[in-house]
Formats: sequence, C-alpha cells, structure tokens
Amino acid sequence: MGMLKYDAIIIGAGQAGGPLAKKMAQAGKKTLLIEKRWVGGTCVNDGCTPTKTWVASARAAYMAGHSGGLGVKIKGYSVSMPKIKKRKDEIVHQFRDGSQKGLEATKNLTLLFGEATFTGKKIIAVKLKNGKKKEFTADLIFINTGAKPYIPDIDGLNNINYLTSTSILDLEQIPKHLLILGGNYIGLEFGQMFRRFGSRVTVLEKTERIVPREDEDVSEELTKILADEDINIRTNTVAVGFKKKSGGKISISLLDGEDEKKLRCTHVLVAVGRTPQTEALNLAKTGVETDERGNIKVNDKLETNIPGIYALGDVKGGPAFTHISYNDYAIVYRNLIEKKNLSIKDRPIPYCMFTDPQLGHIGLNETEAKKLKLKYKVAKLPMAHVARAIETGDTRGFIKAIVDTDTKQILGATVLGPEGGEIMTILQMAMMGGITYEQIRYCVFAHPLYAESLNNLFMALTD
Ligand SMILES: Cc1cc2nc3c(=O)[nH]c(=O)nc-3n(C[C@H](O)[C@H](O)[C@H](O)COP(=O)(O)OP(=O)(O)OC[C@H]3O[C@@H](n4cnc5c(N)ncnc54)[C@H](O)[C@@H]3O)c2cc1C
Repeated sequence: MGMLKYDAIIIGAGQAGGPLAKKMAQAGKKTLLIEKRWVGGTCVNDGCTPTKTWVASARAAYMAGHSGGLGVKIKGYSVSMPKIKKRKDEIVHQFRDGSQKGLEATKNLTLLFGEATFTGKKIIAVKLKNGKKKEFTADLIFINTGAKPYIPDIDGLNNINYLTSTSILDLEQIPKHLLILGGNYIGLEFGQMFRRFGSRVTVLEKTERIVPREDEDVSEELTKILADEDINIRTNTVAVGFKKKSGGKISISLLDGEDEKKLRCTHVLVAVGRTPQTEALNLAKTGVETDERGNIKVNDKLETNIPGIYALGDVKGGPAFTHISYNDYAIVYRNLIEKKNLSIKDRPIPYCMFTDPQLGHIGLNETEAKKLKLKYKVAKLPMAHVARAIETGDTRGFIKAIVDTDTKQILGATVLGPEGGEIMTILQMAMMGGITYEQIRYCVFAHPLYAESLNNLFMALTD
C-alpha cells in the first residue's frame, strides 16, 4: 500500500497533541493523531491527575492524625494503599477514556495507536500494535512526544529495581523506608505523600537546598514544614552507589562532605529530572535540530528549523507544565488557523507544587529581581498573620510579592501556604490586568478569605 497523505499529522496525544488534533480536524484539515501508549499523555496517566488524587488521600491521612488541635480526636485510622490506588486508577480512566471518546467522535480525525518514527523529511512510519508498518506524510507535522524520567548513571542503580514517578503509581503496598533522589517538585510531592501514608522518608538533594530555583526563604520554610512531618532531608548529599541486601533492603553509599556514608532503605524513587522523549522519532531523518540536552529547538512560534514541523510541550524543553503544553497548542493553532501572530515570549508561567501547603509561583522572584538590578520592594506576610489561616488551624508558610518601586506593578509572587496556588492566581490576574499593589491594598475582598490577606500584604509597604 502506498503512503497516506494527511493535511496534518500530530505525534503524541499529550496535553497539546490531543486538543490540537481535534481543533485542526474541526477546522476542516484531514488530521492524523499517532499515540504509542494512551490518550492524555503524562498529565492524565502518570503525572498531574494520579498524583493529585494521592495528594488528597495523603491530606485525609494527615488530617486524621492532626485534627486533635481542632477538638476532634480520631482514635486510630488506617491507610489502604490498594484502595488509594484503585481510586486513582478510576479517575485516570475516567479522564483518559473521556478524551479518547472525544477524539474518536471528531470528523476528519484519525486516532492511530502505534509508535511514530521519521523515515524521511516529512515521512512518518508507524509501527502498529499488530507489528505491521504504515507510512504517512503531511505538510504540517506537530511533535508532542513529551518527556520521561531521567535516570542518572550511578553505580548499582540498575540492579535495585528502583522506582520512577511512573512505576511508583503502581505500588499496592506502602514502602517501609522510601529514599528519594532529588529534592524538587516531583520528589517532594511524593515524599510528603508517602510519609503521610506511613513510610519513613529520606530525601537526598545534591545542591545546598531543596527547590533550589526558589528564593532561599522559600526553601527554608518548606524544609521546616517537611521536617516537622519527620521527613529526613539531606542536602549537599549525593548517592554514589546502591547494593541489594537480604530481606528486601537496599544499601546506599552517599557523600555529604569528605566521608562516604551508608544508609539503608527498602525503596528508591529516582526523581532528578526529566528528559525529552525523542529516540524513537529518529529525528536525524528529518533534519530537526535538538539542543545539548536533546530538547527539540523551536522559535518563538514553536516551529523547528524545518518549515512546517512544530514541537509542543515538554519535548522542546523549558517549563514542563501541562498548562504550558496546552498553551503551546493554542498558540500554534491560532497562528495557523486564525492567522494570529502569537508568540511564546512574555507569556505568564505560573505553577503550583502540590505539597501541603501548596507552593504557588508567578513572575519574578526576589533572586531574579536582584539579578536584573530592578528597583523593587518585597512584601511578605506570614500565614500566622492571616485570619483565615489561624481560624482553619494551619499557619504554615507565607505570601511574598515583588513589586516595582516606581510603577507599583506586581512583578511576581510566591505563595507557600494553604490554597497557595489559588492565592497566587489572584496576583497573576492583577499582573495581567495591570492592577497596582496600591489598588489591592484598599480593595474590598470578602472576609475572611485568604484573598483578604492581600490587603495586609501590601499595607506594610511604605511608599
Ligand atoms: C509525577 C508528575 C507530576 C506532575 N504534576 C504536574 C502538575 O501538577 N501540574 C503541571 O502543570 N504539570 C505537572 N507535571 C508535568 C506534566 O505532566 C507535563 O508537563 C505535561 O504532561 C505536558 O506534557 P506534553 O504535552 O509535553 O507531553 P505528554 O503529556 O507527556 O504526552 C506525550 C505523548 O506522546 C506519546 N509519544 C511519545 N513518543 C511517541 C512516538 N514516537 N510515537 C507516538 N507517540 C509517542 C507518549 O506516549 C505520550 O502520550 C507532572 C509530571 C509528573 C511526571
């Protein structure tokens, strides 16, 4: 059979690929969407959705053990990992199946399950699940193949059956002692979750503090919060070797200064970053360029060096979030079909880490403002001064905003606290609408919301 021609081919049904395929088809383009695994990609299947269902279970366990202060004593509770996993699986299936049905019902759209490989500049071969191969071509090709856990080269690591952020989601049992390599967003979310499920948790971080991209006071407060839950955080520490021991134990050699030390655990989670998923694509056949980390190089409109071939989401590097991948789709679609002139430059990059309390962030932090030599001021309000937080019984964290001294505009905000992501988003909206901190200072917010504390946050700033 000859090669099949489409108007558009999308590789990967991730957070950009699915919606893009649907909209292109609805715009009348004959569209092919190729997916090697499941519709929804990382976010739905082994990223945001499953982890946030577990965060909810972990929060319930935490409250069961910590509600005594609110006058409600719960005498003994138990955590059922099979039930927590089952609830997660059901929600993942609900999201995945819903998206798949939506794609299958779209006119002009073919959803094909199989792995895509380039065999020519704009020719793609797909290895179908039945082992057969088919070839396709299109003038417009969109790569949305995402990223996968990065596995560092450490002596013995490959012999210990380590966990990744993907395989840990299949656990039916609570690890006795979970050791996590990496004190960043993914590692810390899992660390706190499993501590709350009942595991002993140790986090190894090779830099001098956890979440090293955040301001120092944020790392410090978060360290305190996690240490209060008996999570053992060891910074400036690198794992240099792993060995399987009897009784399901793993021995780890680590360096935290001069001497080599030993530690024992039962499970190891590797959470030291993610790497683009491009090997199977055989990009050399198309001439699409990648950078030194393997990320596909794109311009401000997400087009690669080969005209007509675009890369969206995590595979192009940069901030790896679902909302960024989704916005990539919107930019590409609106430029191509609605003839807009949108660019990825200057878009807001908000994010939220779903530890409890959450860490929400938007715009510049203090370290960046300092580096840029801006004229700025810092407004900071501890959660212990927020009425709602006191009433609710959770005063961990703080709200911090960076403002421009002259224009009074908000340049960025970090909210480590209950509903931190939602509070950050209010400040993001203010930034987008050009609302100054002086306006927020006297804005009428409903009492006693967390949002109301934004009055006090900016009240302390002298003009
Ligand atoms: C544990 C964890 C928690 C996370 N939590 C959050 C969060 O709370 N909030 C947030 O914003 N982000 C979170 N993320 C990040 C988020 O999941 C990703 O940024 C998001 O999924 C965007 O991915 P994407 O669209 O680039 O690709 P993906 O969603 O990864 O999709 C890529 C798709 O391409 C397919 N594919 C790959 N190669 C081929 C090929 N050759 N042929 C055919 N198909 C192929 C894959 O099977 C996959 O389905 C989390 C990630 C992890 C791992």
